[in-house]
Amino acid sequence: MRKGNYKYFPMVISAPSGGGKTVVRSGLLKLDKRFAFSVTCTTRPRRPGETDGRDYYFLTVGQFRKLRRGGKLLEWARVHGNYYGTPVKSVMEVLEKGRIPVMTIDVKGARSVKRLFPQAVTVFLLPPDLKTLVQRLRGRGEKPENVAVRLETARAEIKVASQFDYLVINNKLPEAVREVAAIADLETRKIGRNLDKVRAFGKQLGKKAIGRKP
Ligand code: 5GP
Repeated sequence: MRKGNYKYFPMVISAPSGGGKTVVRSGLLKLDKRFAFSVTCTTRPRRPGETDGRDYYFLTVGQFRKLRRGGKLLEWARVHGNYYGTPVKSVMEVLEKGRIPVMTIDVKGARSVKRLFPQAVTVFLLPPDLKTLVQRLRGRGEKPENVAVRLETARAEIKVASQFDYLVINNKLPEAVREVAAIADLETRKIGRNLDKVRAFGKQLGKKAIGRKP
């Protein structure tokens, strides 16, 4: 992955299924124009209300494998029996526009992104408690057997939560959205991301010192 001199960095949001990644992402995009969704691809069937190119690029397994073989995916994972992957292009296009790519991907994908792209900021979202998670999964019409599978996956996912940079508890949605935006604010102020400004100031100081009579 090219690591050019971009104004921003990718923000990766992961959570157990039902943790609220998608709603937090929508909230972020509405709240703050710095953020843009980097659309990922999947081989799972399209759900009612989903649009190709907006929610996902819906691909056949063959098309997915071709992208993967061609090195066009920044990362990929198999989740609940389907393939998912982030096209390098989706992320680079957003960075090149001077915006923050928001990636809502699974924990394995988050780990790969961080490895390939250490400037990325990773956020782990958790619901306030297990009861809320179960209610959210049931509330979106998941069958009881799917709820059980997703809870089992959640168990594995929270084991690796310590590898993330930040934790946000998604209790009240607007608060969770503001917290993720606040993390981006703080990250943009990190000295390591702003050394060019420090150096430019240093150069100005240097010139002044040279011009001054002893
Ligand atoms: P769903 O099928 O419910 O939309 O997504 C299932 C899981 O796949 C979610 O945890 C979602 O964040 C994750 N996911 C979506 N796109 C990608 C991707 O490009 N890469 C990875 N690693 N996971 C993804």
